[in-house]
Amino acid sequence: MPRTEPIKAVRGVRDILPDQRGLWRVAEQAAANVARRFGYREIVTPLIEYRELIERLGEETDAVAKELYGFEDRGGRHLALRPEATAGVVRAYFEGGLNQRPQPARLYLIGPMFRYDRPQKGRYRQFFQFNVEAIGGASPALDAEVIELARAWLLESGLSDLTLDLNSIGDDKCRPAYLGLLREYYRPLKEKLHPDCQKRLEVNPLRLLDCKVPQDQPFKAGAPRITDHLCDDCQAAWVMVRRLLDEAAIKYNLNPYLVRGLDYYTRTVFEFYPTSSSGQQDTVGGGGRYDGLAEAEGWPSTPGVGFAGGLDRVTELMAAAGEEVIVEPAAEVAVLPDAELVAEAAEVARLARALRSVIVDFEPRSLRAKMRAADKLGVRWALLLGAADAKRRVAQLRDMTTGEQAEVAWSELPERLA
Ligand code: AMP
Repeated sequence: MPRTEPIKAVRGVRDILPDQRGLWRVAEQAAANVARRFGYREIVTPLIEYRELIERLGEETDAVAKELYGFEDRGGRHLALRPEATAGVVRAYFEGGLNQRPQPARLYLIGPMFRYDRPQKGRYRQFFQFNVEAIGGASPALDAEVIELARAWLLESGLSDLTLDLNSIGDDKCRPAYLGLLREYYRPLKEKLHPDCQKRLEVNPLRLLDCKVPQDQPFKAGAPRITDHLCDDCQAAWVMVRRLLDEAAIKYNLNPYLVRGLDYYTRTVFEFYPTSSSGQQDTVGGGGRYDGLAEAEGWPSTPGVGFAGGLDRVTELMAAAGEEVIVEPAAEVAVLPDAELVAEAAEVARLARALRSVIVDFEPRSLRAKMRAADKLGVRWALLLGAADAKRRVAQLRDMTTGEQAEVAWSELPERLA
């Protein structure tokens, strides 16, 4: 690269600029508020984990197989930037002894995730998620609670036009027999399937149901549905989750094709997406029960249920819905000194900061130019400081909305700015 070329951001990542942060803050604060209302406490886990922990999520998932940001550190450890939060949160739950506390542990996390995906609109290599996990509880009421929490967050962020899809994928008692039926149904159709789906038929037949290839779509309608083949426990949970959602007046769409193709996922799966969109491609968030995950990580078998929502998509939808966040001015007061009055200006600013946010214009430009800049920043007051005034320890306080101006002693600044 020639020396003169400025170095740009890495492909697939982006900056969130100060004017955009307001919208993000609304979504993040809504997340924290809603989580707290439901009794979920914040947890922060590292962005890096052992690659193996992530790989236990399942080496055939896209997030792990194709999209992992893996690297070797100076100590020769094989690490990865986390592609999702649940693996790390479950690890922290055991390592931090949260499994010894009253169960379930209700936890939430907001932070960046990394996937080496093909960048496009709404899809980034570093993106942000709001995660909610209830670990150590098997009650289907927790599934409904997590869904209700997720929905409350989306509503509080101003997104009301969302559809919720719901399904149950059974557990290791009933799923194997169902997968047998699914294979039986698809085998005679094998030659007509897309090559990827031919492979799925043998390796991971559940994934045939969420295949997006057009040529395979017509076969889905006739496929057996797992919710017709649940064992008694899974059936009871399935009934309970829906009853609780009904009682909470939460509308959902039963989607027999909504699946997760990994063994540690059990029972409830759900997804939220904009009603106007074509569905799963544009999900703003989703989740489900993962009763087999703790064991897959090498810990004692422990049930859990969670949700992951994408802040990038949520803020994009908020902006598209015309949600406006008043851009806060950087400061309420601008001190505009003559060029040589650096120390005096800093002192005036310090006094005014007792009450107000204050910036100082140290740039070598005319008072007129400083006034224009202060106006653009949206400050409420300007404090004009000339040499004669500085000697008498006074300044000119100008109200930027009315244009009124009056002399004020430095010592009186806190009262005058109150
Ligand atoms: P997942 O962990 O794949 O279920 O994703 C949960 C949510 O995270 C999705 O519904 C998206 O809103 C968001 N998300 C996932 N991958 C990306 C990405 N590459 N860029 C932006 N948002 C993403």
